[in-house]
Amino acid sequence: MTYQNYSLKQLQQIDAAHHLHPFTDHKELRETGSRIITHANGPFIYDADGTEILDGMAGLWCVNVGYGRDELAEAAYAQMKELPYYNSFFKCSTPTPVLLSKKLAELAPKHVSQVFYGSSGSEANDTALRLVRHYWALEGKPEKNRVISRKSAYHGSTIAGTSLGGMEPMHKQLGGAVPNIVHVMMPYAYELALPGESDHDFGMRAAKAVEDAILEAGADKVAAFIGEPVMGAGGVKIPPMSYWPEVERICRKYDVLLMLDEVITGYGRTGEWFAAQTFGIEPDTITTAKALTSGYQPLSALLVGDRVAKTLVEKGGEFYHGYTYSGHPVACAVALKNLEIIEKEGLVERVKNDTGPYFAQALQEQIAGHRLVGEVRSIGLMGAIEIVKDKATKERYLPSGSAAVVVRDHAIAQGLMLRATGDTMILSPPLIWTRDTIDMACERIAKALDLADADLRKR
Ligand code: PMP
Repeated sequence: MTYQNYSLKQLQQIDAAHHLHPFTDHKELRETGSRIITHANGPFIYDADGTEILDGMAGLWCVNVGYGRDELAEAAYAQMKELPYYNSFFKCSTPTPVLLSKKLAELAPKHVSQVFYGSSGSEANDTALRLVRHYWALEGKPEKNRVISRKSAYHGSTIAGTSLGGMEPMHKQLGGAVPNIVHVMMPYAYELALPGESDHDFGMRAAKAVEDAILEAGADKVAAFIGEPVMGAGGVKIPPMSYWPEVERICRKYDVLLMLDEVITGYGRTGEWFAAQTFGIEPDTITTAKALTSGYQPLSALLVGDRVAKTLVEKGGEFYHGYTYSGHPVACAVALKNLEIIEKEGLVERVKNDTGPYFAQALQEQIAGHRLVGEVRSIGLMGAIEIVKDKATKERYLPSGSAAVVVRDHAIAQGLMLRATGDTMILSPPLIWTRDTIDMACERIAKALDLADADLRKR
């Protein structure tokens, strides 16, 4: 690779001079310089200094089969030689999106059998929003176009994605959101449950917020409800088991479509192929991306349920929407091979029956007792650690979010990449992690917590 002709310092200088990073304070980045990751293998990433770091985030919640998979590189190479690109507009198609659609229809919940492709989760959510509004227009109810989402939701960074999401700092920079999207409370028991309220009751109350929003607008004005089964970027917020079935019941009662954003949870993360199966619900649309290719190619797939697809097909008329790279042949070839690896290696079952439960137990036994930890929680292979100043009162360190960054920096120095969102540490490792890898990660987290504790006491 040509980068090897450059020193780390040179790469950092060029990066600072020319590269605008996502979700970054560029002034701050220019003061510190970026960490440059040069290669990776299995569960490890390596920076330009050669430091080995266990990747507790699977890249950005996506590298589910781990790094260095020759089969994926070979699938891309073979497809690029045969047909690097052709579009799927104008009544054309290419073989790999055809076969991938068949495969996804087999893996998805029973009532879901159609697929619309994009290159990112944000694009797929744009598609989903356009599609549900188009659906109600085709049904003769164009005024049924309001979408209910949740505070702190993350649905992407395009204007539609940001509008659907519930991140206030992002809204502030929008200068005008997509109209008719409202946000209700999130199912985050750690901070929002009332004293003495059971998990079940809290879940029902959080679901009731969806019903209240439907009634406030009038059901004839509400197109859909959208949510991440487990809120990811907002802090791995796992809803009580009562929440999703109740949200589904409410949506059906008022004839509101249910849109699930499984960009993080899709393809095995919660121990089923889709979190819809984990929570036992049947959404009308399922947004997926990331682990569809394990991040080896940019690809998203909006899985469309039979109800919406039937109207689209039977009523006809052009849906004026699509991307140059919808159904990209190389990305779809890589996705097919990636799904084959996940199946062949039994990674979904492994998360469900072995590593998921072991991960939960390890977090409880090795991390939960630490003085800085208010709560640990996990589902499958995604987990969160709440950082607090006082376990009993749940008081946080000030300024908000500053303590988690101290823990994160120590964790990285200990050789574990994880992420801090507000005062929550997040883990979302590759599904190839074993019990030993989980133990290695917990050991490093425990050390990072001790070092952070010492730093925070000095403040
Ligand atoms: N939805 C969810 C739930 C996500 O977590 C993300 C990305 N983290 C997106 C949508 C947006 O995906 P992308 O960054 O590929 O546009």
